[in-house]
Amino acid sequence: MLTIALSKGRILDDTLPLLAAAGIEPTENPEKSRKLIIPTTQDDVQLLIVRATDVPTYVEHGAADLGVAGKDVLMEYGGQGLYEPLDLQIANCKLMTAGKVGAPEPKGRLRVATKFVNVAKRYYAEQGRQVDVIKLYGSMELAPLVGLADKIIDVVDTGNTLRANGLEPQELIAHISSRLIVNKASMKMQHGRIQALIETLRGAVEARHQS
Ligand code: AMP
Repeated sequence: MLTIALSKGRILDDTLPLLAAAGIEPTENPEKSRKLIIPTTQDDVQLLIVRATDVPTYVEHGAADLGVAGKDVLMEYGGQGLYEPLDLQIANCKLMTAGKVGAPEPKGRLRVATKFVNVAKRYYAEQGRQVDVIKLYGSMELAPLVGLADKIIDVVDTGNTLRANGLEPQELIAHISSRLIVNKASMKMQHGRIQALIETLRGAVEARHQS
């Protein structure tokens, strides 16, 4: 059995057409089903539906052979125990700092609210800047508005959410897209099969970009 971990929403929507190109289609709609293990049209391939931030955990520990995770999630996870053989070029966005429009740079330690705590610490350490990182799980845009933080670090697509809250994107930390990730032991044990799937997906990604 080949097990592929995916998260609902953007990643699932954009990954299903790529998997379909490899002849893998879920036998029921994962967005609607309450099932967390979804069989596919290939008897020996199944999908696991997990939280986006849990995808690397399932794959690193071998509970799934493969997965699809955003580069933002992988940067935060620090995936040394994973192969990342293919950029699927989906769910593209940017990881950025943002702050209140026109707010002056605070003197002294910067307070940064984010769910990307490890990314934030690494980013400001590289700049030699002293920061207090405040962990949040969502609605980061609120933090500068109510004085919880000076800045946030979040993924930005159109920037509309920032603007709607009086914030502006500031520094670019990384361009983000979703990546195929593979468990290291699975890559060894099922090399032919997984490599064939990677090449088919690579072809589907390229075809999508040429059309
Ligand atoms: P925006 O288009 O910048 O207003 O983005 C809307 C919201 O969706 C933001 O709060 C982001 O956190 C989130 N978002 C945008 N693009 C992505 C992505 N590729 N992956 C995950 N979250 C995203």
